[in-house]
Amino acid sequence: MSGAEVSSLSPLPGAASSSAKSLYARQTTGFDARLARTVELLRAAVAMHGAGLLQSTSLGAEDMVITDLIARHALPVAIATLDTGKLHAETLALIPAIEAKYGLKVEVFRPAAEAVIHFVRTNGEDAMYRSLALRKACCGLRKLEPLSRMLAGRSAWITGLRREQSTNRAEVPFDEDDGQGRRKLNVLAEWSWADVWHYIEQFDVPYNPLHDQFMPSIGCAPCTRAIAVGEDFRAGRWWWEESSKECGLHATNKTIGVTA
Ligand code: SF4
Repeated sequence: MSGAEVSSLSPLPGAASSSAKSLYARQTTGFDARLARTVELLRAAVAMHGAGLLQSTSLGAEDMVITDLIARHALPVAIATLDTGKLHAETLALIPAIEAKYGLKVEVFRPAAEAVIHFVRTNGEDAMYRSLALRKACCGLRKLEPLSRMLAGRSAWITGLRREQSTNRAEVPFDEDDGQGRRKLNVLAEWSWADVWHYIEQFDVPYNPLHDQFMPSIGCAPCTRAIAVGEDFRAGRWWWEESSKECGLHATNKTIGVTA
């Protein structure tokens, strides 16, 4: 991550509290243009893909911005999320919050129960800490398999990937091939963390309160911890690994990443 990227994760001098909004929200040069471009991208995606378009939301801050934009601009985009069975209660609470605030349905995809039971019986609840292979196996059955069902029949999906999130994502394009014959639309690719929180503050977007506890990137509870000031955005994900902090949800020829 570059120095500029680290600085956007650093609290503003004199921030009054630890709320993510007070720590990070600020309007920077070009925000209005970036916002307008995102709305244009979403409109173009609807025109191009129609009912084939889906927002895959991790319920993280970026994805909450996108859901708000979909609702605010009355865009006909289906919204879906993955419930891995290991999410924080705070994350799951956002599903009814979205449905109540926007009147939109969030379709929830879960892993196959038998596969989870077999994996846990064989390897234990904490298998992910024992080896990279077991961690990836857990991500495979709890995330990748239900994601494949989520995306079946779709021609494009919208994600909250941003270039600033990590070095792995530094070249995230607005539109890319997902490696499975679909378009993956990273409509916030050029947004900063400050932009995300400026939008959330400006439009009163609901968000995960764990973001107020220094968790910029939130995944499953056993695999997410808070980060310290100056640490990489994704340092709290699979923190015990020396891996690329990714689990394959966004593995393509151009981008390896995960928002969940
Ligand atoms: S993030 Fe952790 S708990 Fe969630 S699917 Fe991957 S290894 Fe399993």
